[in-house]
Amino acid sequence: MSNALKGKTALVTGSTSGIGLGIAHSLAAEGANILLNGFGDTATIDAVKQEITAKFGVRAEYHGADMTKPADIADMIQFAEDKLGGVDILVNNAGIQYVANVEDFPIEKWDAVIAINLSSSFHTIRCALPGMKKKGWARIINIASAHGLVASAQKSAYVAAKHGLVGLTKVVALETAKTGITCNAICPGWVLTPLVQKQIDARAANEGKSLEQAKIELLSEKQPSLEFVTVEQLGGLAVFLCSDAANQVRGAAWNMDGGWVAQ
Ligand code: NAD
Repeated sequence: MSNALKGKTALVTGSTSGIGLGIAHSLAAEGANILLNGFGDTATIDAVKQEITAKFGVRAEYHGADMTKPADIADMIQFAEDKLGGVDILVNNAGIQYVANVEDFPIEKWDAVIAINLSSSFHTIRCALPGMKKKGWARIINIASAHGLVASAQKSAYVAAKHGLVGLTKVVALETAKTGITCNAICPGWVLTPLVQKQIDARAANEGKSLEQAKIELLSEKQPSLEFVTVEQLGGLAVFLCSDAANQVRGAAWNMDGGWVAQ
């Protein structure tokens, strides 16, 4: 634990679970106050807030913005201004997956994946940037994916959204290049979160295999290390991107993927 980010406020979208929650913990461990977001029941979210405050001695608030709704997102950024002095670190992490061949892809699923995995980042950045510019220092970290750099079959909406997010990252990095605001993307490979567990469960059910076998096959197809990336490792990279050493890391799409996109 350090105080490197003491006094800063980090908004992590989709932080009630998985990677977002892990990154929220890593930033809180550096002293940042945390604005949580994402779905979940009130008791669980209250417990997460209390845990962060008790463990790291920082403030933790929650806003339940639905990331498909631009008005909710604008309200969340205003909430951050009113309650926590504005957003210094914005981690665009909320995301969903849907798997189907393109001709069978339900239109409403396409729209939802694009809204949550791509358009929500446009809206958070659009709303947060004026406040960031006034402060003169900020970090925008977009959680893209190895699928922001390469494709897989049956993931048209996800791959399109994540490639789009990498593109948005580069544009925002250019538009903020002469400021103390940096914008970068992190591109994780497989991380064992609820989002991926659903894919392992589906694979095991469809192919009549054990969960362990399905997990090994999932890794073997894409991730040469045959090990999952952890949320703590991703949190470490996010903390680095918030450091002074990363002042000139701008517009990067940084893969942490056990070798996935090196192939
Ligand atoms: P997860 O399912 O564990 O968490 C997703 C989070 O997003 C949850 O907090 C959920 O409540 C929130 N969310 C979903 N829809 C929302 C909405 N409409 N409004 C607000 N919040 C919403 O998933 P995860 O694996 O932790 O994924 C987090 C991010 O990392 C996603 O963008 C995902 O694409 C990306 N990613 C994940 C992996 C992986 O292997 N798990 C790999 C690469 C990239």
